[in-house]
Amino acid sequence: MTRPVRARINLQSLAHNLSLARRAAPDSRVMAVIKANAYGHGAVPVARALGAADAFAVASLEEAMQLREAGIRHEIVLLEGLFERDELELAVTHQLQLVVHCEQQVAWLEQFRSGASLQLWLKVDTGMHRLGFAPDVALAVWQRLQRLGYVKTGGLRWLSHLACADEPGHALNAQQLSRFNEITHFFESLQGVRAECSLANSAALLTRPDTHFDWVRPGIMLYGASPLAAAADLDLHPAMALESALIAVQQRCKGDSIGYGQDWTCPRDMTLGVVAVGYADGYPRHAPSGTPVLVNGQPTALVGRVSMDMICVDLGDQPQAKPGDPVLLWGEGLPVETVAAQAGTISYELLCGVSARVPRSYAS
Ligand SMILES: *Cc1c(COP(=O)(O)O)cnc(C)c1O
Repeated sequence: MTRPVRARINLQSLAHNLSLARRAAPDSRVMAVIKANAYGHGAVPVARALGAADAFAVASLEEAMQLREAGIRHEIVLLEGLFERDELELAVTHQLQLVVHCEQQVAWLEQFRSGASLQLWLKVDTGMHRLGFAPDVALAVWQRLQRLGYVKTGGLRWLSHLACADEPGHALNAQQLSRFNEITHFFESLQGVRAECSLANSAALLTRPDTHFDWVRPGIMLYGASPLAAAADLDLHPAMALESALIAVQQRCKGDSIGYGQDWTCPRDMTLGVVAVGYADGYPRHAPSGTPVLVNGQPTALVGRVSMDMICVDLGDQPQAKPGDPVLLWGEGLPVETVAAQAGTISYELLCGVSARVPRSYAS
């Protein structure tokens, strides 16, 4: 028997979640965010499953090239644009769209000559204070980009990113939206044409129609995890099941300590299961004792520290469990958000962190 840990990806769930995004933002086009190997799900199979999206967004040229080499013909946006001047040639050849967020990138673009056209997204910092041009210089940058011979009419779009969209009532959302509206409206009145705009991530897509504009940019919701800080019934279907199996079942006595650091001690005689999954697979090392794990579909609790390749669970309610029995670490029936909250992190980190040694399998 080969080591049983695997990530089972349900392609139908991805398509279902995309259709939910469409229904929530019916007047916008959807740029499906599949950076970081599609949040750990596998960029190419995910792109195929999300073929109904209008565009894809990734974090780097390498991620984009992986899609192009697999024959994906969609519009592809590089969310951080160029990291080096040398990337421009390939970006043009493969018709990749670039976010422009800093002066250095503008300079590279101004030094570049091309007969082909390039689609650019000007990133404005409306209050997240991470990437982008301040609103008071963005217009001047826009005009410089407009003068580039290879940027055609309609070849420039506005983009900004929300810092607190997971808390829909947060005051910064309204502030960022109003700054975004201000700059894009001012531009419109100046030039007499409207450029396309994009602001919403998953959380804003689901909660704030006023942020939808021309393009929404859902990421996490496509994978079936809630983007909202508070619980909500969104009908998202988890796309990933992180599965493994029991590799041992042990009888332990009251007072026995379990695993590294004698971190946890049996409060009574008990049956423990050893599961083949650990932090080297991406299961969070900081998940505390008590974190839920499903064995044979039934809830059990993690006990002791997470090791590199193994965890232990309390089989109290199913002493008949045996090696080979199936284990679910997260997926349908055990939301990744629940495990993430226990471990003091977010679903995004757990999904992206499923390591390369975990085989992905795909079912539709
Ligand atoms: C990652 C990312 C998104 C997607 O965010 P989710 O919260 O996963 O929906 C959207 N826009 C930008 C710029 C991003 O970097």
